[in-house]
Amino acid sequence: MNQSKSIRVLLVEDEAGDAYLVKMALKQSHGINFEVTWVESLTLAKQALMDSVFEVILLDLSLPDSEGLDTVEIARQMAGDVPIVVLTGRGDTEFALTALKAGANDYMIKGDFGFDGLARVIRHALLRVEMEEHNKLLVAALEAAANGIVITDRNAIIKWANPAFSSLTGYDLGEVIGQKPNELINSGVQNALFYEDMWRNLQAGKHWRGEIINKRKNGSLYHEDLSISPVKNNHGEIVNFIGIKENISERKALEEILYKMANTDPLTGLFNRRVFLERLDQESDRISRLGGSAVLLMLDLDFFKRVNDTYGHATGDEVLKSFANVVRKNSRNIDISARFGGEEFVILLPNTGRDEALIMAERLRKQVSEIVIEDPKGMVKITVSIGAALLSMRDMDSEIVLNRADSAMYTAKESGRNQICWSED
Ligand SMILES: [Mg+2]
Repeated sequence: MNQSKSIRVLLVEDEAGDAYLVKMALKQSHGINFEVTWVESLTLAKQALMDSVFEVILLDLSLPDSEGLDTVEIARQMAGDVPIVVLTGRGDTEFALTALKAGANDYMIKGDFGFDGLARVIRHALLRVEMEEHNKLLVAALEAAANGIVITDRNAIIKWANPAFSSLTGYDLGEVIGQKPNELINSGVQNALFYEDMWRNLQAGKHWRGEIINKRKNGSLYHEDLSISPVKNNHGEIVNFIGIKENISERKALEEILYKMANTDPLTGLFNRRVFLERLDQESDRISRLGGSAVLLMLDLDFFKRVNDTYGHATGDEVLKSFANVVRKNSRNIDISARFGGEEFVILLPNTGRDEALIMAERLRKQVSEIVIEDPKGMVKITVSIGAALLSMRDMDSEIVLNRADSAMYTAKESGRNQICWSED
């Protein structure tokens, strides 16, 4: 409220004496200049409201053209957002409260304005309007926000949520009020410990932020970037929590695609050469620090050029995919399989010794020899030659192991293919 300018008051009062008292009361007010326009009926008040702008209306309820609560209701319709202070002659609080329900913002008992009382009531009415407008603006901003926003009480019970929260979760506002977010949209992906940790942080008054997977009303899962802030009262006690949710499912999906593109071979879905070499270096480092061993298998499909030449590249691709499926089926979680190039593949078997590796390699060799690809020109069958080499502490460089496995694989080729050759170096 600007203190230097005057406040325009519309006084609706049919008794000249009462009007005089109001004008006098406002004239005596310190610091604020009231510019009073006096009219004697609702009809004249309506005209005045059309002709000029007022910041507050002082309203007598017994007028020549209106009486009682009707006066408040009609005046409210005419006044729009302008606050109305009812001037009542009755010392009846109940009636005054009814007037408030009918649309008045405040009331004063005539002849009982006290020192500066009327001016104070007007100032408060204006302040309230200003605050209400401010609140409306804030709510409009929250409702327009693209992020889901949810307000809970101190026990995480939802008090309010914006439309973006509804579109994110699929729940209407009416369905979420009174519920707990962690129960309503819990996907089960995060464990109880996760929520306990989050809750402990929040109750300590700390901000919490993280990426979590939640569940929509229709059961589908989505990724959200969740940020929760505790809100404290003047005594420093937490009274509310505000959660802000951004749907990051698209970003997550894109990240996954980019990750696959960057790390895997698009045809077979196995890791690419770069990732394999990184993992091999990591395993080599691990062994040189902690000991143990791993086995590297180098696999090359026999006569693959013939497959391509005879049946075409589409069938060649089918062969590679079938081969990759056999590799996947025979791999443990810890194994790293990659397409090294063309028809050459590598498998790193961590925490594995010679005998175990040879059993796995033999199983693989056998299953590959059982692959049959149907082609219009006939049944395509393949075999694989495998070179195996041990990766142990004495290998300072993973390159050396790669070379040993590669040599062993060539020995397998030279010895008639479709077999495994162990590098004795
Ligand atoms: Mg009157």
